[in-house]
Amino acid sequence: MSYPRLDIYLNRIKENYLKMKKICAEKNIKLTAVIKAFSGDENIFRSLLNIDIDSIADSRLQNIKKFRELGYSKEAVLLRIPMLSEIDRLVEYVDHTLISEIVICRYLSEKALRKGKKIGVIVMIDLGDRREGIMPDELIDFLKEINKLEGVYIEGLGTNLGCFAGILPDVTNTKKLIDLKNKAEKELNIKISRLSAGNTATTKLFGEKNLVAEINNLRIGEGILIGTDITNQRTLKSMHHYNFRLKAEIIELKNKPSLPEGSTGRDFSGRKKRFTDRGLRMRAIAAAGKQDIDYTGLYPEIEGIEVLGASSDHLILDLTNAEKEIKIGDIVSFKMNYSAVLQAMTSKYVEKNYIEG
Ligand SMILES: *Cc1c(COP(=O)(O)O)cnc(C)c1O
Repeated sequence: MSYPRLDIYLNRIKENYLKMKKICAEKNIKLTAVIKAFSGDENIFRSLLNIDIDSIADSRLQNIKKFRELGYSKEAVLLRIPMLSEIDRLVEYVDHTLISEIVICRYLSEKALRKGKKIGVIVMIDLGDRREGIMPDELIDFLKEINKLEGVYIEGLGTNLGCFAGILPDVTNTKKLIDLKNKAEKELNIKISRLSAGNTATTKLFGEKNLVAEINNLRIGEGILIGTDITNQRTLKSMHHYNFRLKAEIIELKNKPSLPEGSTGRDFSGRKKRFTDRGLRMRAIAAAGKQDIDYTGLYPEIEGIEVLGASSDHLILDLTNAEKEIKIGDIVSFKMNYSAVLQAMTSKYVEKNYIEG
């Protein structure tokens, strides 16, 4: 085995998917599994193929293409609003795409028509997180423009909260989405089949019966892969939690003063750091760094270890209060949040270790 290594618990991820699917089905919500965090990994995808996964969403077209080539033929959604430069390929591999620009929609329609296809668009509305989406008062005009196009059809409306500004899905903004859908159906005299109301964080609203009755699609990644909902700072009941673990090897162990010494410039990302004097500490370096993980999303499995920071290839730990003795060459293990998993999956330096049981 080489290190850093990522242990991936395939069965727990599968079970989470099936559980989430059942919970959603009981509420008449179609579950779209968001798989962008595993970087197109074939082994994880194959294990999902085995349980007949039937709706996936990825941000990267090349991953969707790969899954098509592995034999996946059910619904595929492009999760990131598309680039003009990828529309040609999009039409080949994708059933639905999120959309927020009419220029792109027109081009998409043109390309789809040329291939004899019709692509369903899910119009994204920005309800406060200020990432993708049209502003609510633009919706009606936007839909009217889409209706003129022949190579696309309105598959649904959607929103995404939490990911940029950390805005929580709540009764107010979710109700707003529902109201917008009703208004659009009335003014355009159409039926909008899909209300894609959000991501993992939106499951917090499952107790709101009136809202849930209107929502019929959720795009869920974190809840399935990690079993957590970081936006609402909770773990999801009945799911397996932290299904990815980072293993990193200790390469230096020394007592060092907690304060640096000398005149300070910037660290390697150009920031100035502050330190507090905690006296002499037992410090360690593990062989992993920003090229491999987001260190802010690492939770040491040995009690008492603190993650102090990382540079490109060094992970700096404080072991002073560690509950277990650690030696040079030991492997330390970390639970990981979504962002740390995302980066570890993407890093070619991290060995992937698939665990079935
Ligand atoms: C990442 C993403 C999701 C999934 O979010 P999770 O928090 O992983 O459930 C859903 N929709 C969009 C548009 C996304 O970018």
